[in-house]
Amino acid sequence: MLLVLRLIFARQGIFMKDTQALKDFLSTPRTIVITTHANPDADALGSSLGLEHFLVSQGHTVQTIIPNSFPDFLEWMPGLHEVIDFEAKPEIAKKKITASEVVFCLDFSAFSRVRGMSECLSTYQAQIALVDHHLNPAIKPHFNFWNDKAAATSELVYDLIEDLDKKEQITPAIADCLYAGIMTDTGSFKHPSTSAKIHRTVAELISLGANVNKVSRLIYDTNSLNRLRFLGYALAEKLQVNSKFQVAHFVIREQDVKQFDLKKGDTEGLVNYALSIRGVVVAAIIIERDNEIKMSFRSVGDVAVNDFAEKFFEGGGHKNAAGGTSSLDIESTERKFNDLISQNILNTKIS
Ligand code: 5GP
Ligand code: MN
Repeated sequence: MLLVLRLIFARQGIFMKDTQALKDFLSTPRTIVITTHANPDADALGSSLGLEHFLVSQGHTVQTIIPNSFPDFLEWMPGLHEVIDFEAKPEIAKKKITASEVVFCLDFSAFSRVRGMSECLSTYQAQIALVDHHLNPAIKPHFNFWNDKAAATSELVYDLIEDLDKKEQITPAIADCLYAGIMTDTGSFKHPSTSAKIHRTVAELISLGANVNKVSRLIYDTNSLNRLRFLGYALAEKLQVNSKFQVAHFVIREQDVKQFDLKKGDTEGLVNYALSIRGVVVAAIIIERDNEIKMSFRSVGDVAVNDFAEKFFEGGGHKNAAGGTSSLDIESTERKFNDLISQNILNTKIS
């Protein structure tokens, strides 16, 4: 019976939402902290700031805290300069967290994803609200708004506002933030998560003032010359293809990062070029930066890179987009990756 239910849920998805409890809780002015995962991307920041602007408009006192800094190409997001970077100002951030009545955790579902903030959050005494679309949440919240079938956390923030019967209070600034998160997390409406529902949501956001052209230009067309030159270099010199196993990967070293003066976010999207090669079903990037090794994985179809990331590289994520880290040096990390691929662990090669 349990197995049957699990299969049904896995296929249809479950939307775990405590809308009424949230409605009741938010019916009086609250002191709220919003936070998101480390190395925040457009969905992490768009959902956080969209929710922040909405909650402020409802009379709450809200502070968004991010575990570390954000990439330059998201600087335009309304309110981003008022967020507190925990890594830069840990004491101020801790005080805000301790003084809050609820912490909204957006776009992550395990405290391991917030770096230095994890201790502070796992010992937090008041209420936790989870708004997220990652598989297998490890956080046990007081208020849930979780759906692993959602295309983006920004979509869930829209759903939450709609469920609270406040859709008409979405301003153009909120709409821009949420649109940015949805556009990027769906890979510009290309990923399998791109449903009719997400298009309807976006249509509503446009009606409410989202400026699609402005947001897409700000996100995709603000490259530095260095970044474009780096892209050319990476494609020409760093891309390796293993056609037998239909896998392609990049290895980017600290010296490459220095040579091209890469900023945060400058390697974002690179992995997708590897996945765009005909026949390739898994793509990866292994990047050495600030004495850390970070990995990104992408796949198509049924090949699940989240399990792979979790099992071998201390990470996780979604079936077709995951990430992880490695405590080995970069050569050993690449060797480990290549070994796993040639053992056909990911089942990329149908024999
Ligand atoms: P990206 O490759 O863009 O950094 O991450 C893709 C997805 O993988 C993210 O949306 C996130 O779900 C997941 N992810 C990335 N890095 C990590 C990590 O270190 N740990 C876990 N658990 N998930 C990650
Ligand atoms: Mn997301």
